[in-house]
Amino acid sequence: MVFDLNKLVRENVKRLISYSSARDEYNGSAQIFLDANENSFGSPLPQDYNRYPDPKNTALKEKIATLNGIDYAQIFIGNGSDEVIDLLIRLFCRPGVDDVLICPPTYGMYEVAAGINDAGVVRVNLTDEFELDSDAICKATTKNTKLVFLCSPNNPTGNSLSRNEILNIAKSFVGVVVVDEAYVHFSDQSSLVSEIAKYPNLVILQTFSKAWGLAGLRVGVAFANRGIVELLNRIKPPYNVSTVAQDMTMAALKNQRSVEKTIAEIKRERGRLADGLLHLPFVKIVYPSDANFLLIKVENADDVYRFLVGRRIVVRDRSKVVLCAACLRITVGTPDENRSLLNALTEYRAEIKSNA
Ligand SMILES: *Cc1c(COP(=O)(O)O)cnc(C)c1O
Repeated sequence: MVFDLNKLVRENVKRLISYSSARDEYNGSAQIFLDANENSFGSPLPQDYNRYPDPKNTALKEKIATLNGIDYAQIFIGNGSDEVIDLLIRLFCRPGVDDVLICPPTYGMYEVAAGINDAGVVRVNLTDEFELDSDAICKATTKNTKLVFLCSPNNPTGNSLSRNEILNIAKSFVGVVVVDEAYVHFSDQSSLVSEIAKYPNLVILQTFSKAWGLAGLRVGVAFANRGIVELLNRIKPPYNVSTVAQDMTMAALKNQRSVEKTIAEIKRERGRLADGLLHLPFVKIVYPSDANFLLIKVENADDVYRFLVGRRIVVRDRSKVVLCAACLRITVGTPDENRSLLNALTEYRAEIKSNA
C-alpha cells in the first residue's frame, strides 16, 4: 500500500476555489493601496496596524526554512499549532464518515478538534510505560482512518516516543502521521523534521508557545511535503497569522541564543524540581521528562491539588485521565516559583503528618 495524497484529501477541498484576498491578487510595490478597504488614515495607536498582514507569511517562512535547512514550500504557519490540528482534520476527514487515531493519555485538542469536525476518534492507549503500541495502532486503523496523531515528547506524560516506532507507523500507514513536537526543544532527542523528505505522509508540528515563550502571539508551524502544505494553504483563513505575530516572531528569531539559555535553565530546574519532589514521601513517582513539565503520581491527588490552590499555586490535575490515576502535571517554573511550590508541598506534608 502506498500513500496517495490525492486519494486521501476530501473531494470538496479538491474542488474548492480558495478565497483570493486583495494581497493575493496584487503584492507588487504600488504606492497607493485602495484595494482592501483598509483605513488609509492609520491606527489609533503609536504604531499603525491598518494594513492586512502578509497572507503567505513569506518572511517568517523564509527564516524558518533557513534555520531548519528545508524548503519554504515545506512550511505552513498556523494561528498556533491548534489551528493546524483543526485544518489537518478538515482536509482529510469527511464529517460523520472518517476518523483519526490518537494514543491516550495525550494532548486533548486532537479529540476536541475531531469532535468539532464530526470525525470519529479511534483510541489506542500507550502502554503502561507510556510507549507506543505500534502493532495495536496498525491493527486499529481502517480505510476510514485518515490521520494518526502522535505527540513526542508526549503531553501529559513527558516522555519522547520511540523514533523507530514512529517511522515504522509512517511506513506502514497509508494515511497521514502527525507528530506533535511542541516540547521537542526540551528534549535531547532530535526533531523528525529531517525525515519529511523520506516520508511523504509525515507532518511535524512545532510551536512558538513553549520553548520560545510566545504563547500569547499564537504561532505554530507545520513541516510537511509540499503537497500537504499546498492543501493547507488552500483552506486556511487568508489572514490567519496577525501582523503583530509575524513581526514579533521574526524579532524573537534574532534572539535564538537567549532562548537556548532559557531552555538550558528550564532543563536544570526540571532536574532540581524532580529531586525536591522525590524527597516528599507522598510523592510516589516522578516520571522522567523530556519536556518543560513533570508528571507525578501522589497519594491523594485531589487533596494535594486543593491544598496548592489554597496557597495560590495552580498545577494541572490529570488524575481523571487514562493511565494517569492520582497524577498531577506540574510546569517547571522559575527557581523562585519552584521553591515556593516545594515549600508549599513540604507544609502539606507536615499537615497530613500532624493529622495522622
Ligand atoms: C501546548 C501544546 C500545543 C499548543 O500549541 P499552540 O501553538 O499554542 O496552539 C500543541 N500541542 C501540544 C502537545 C501542546 O502541549
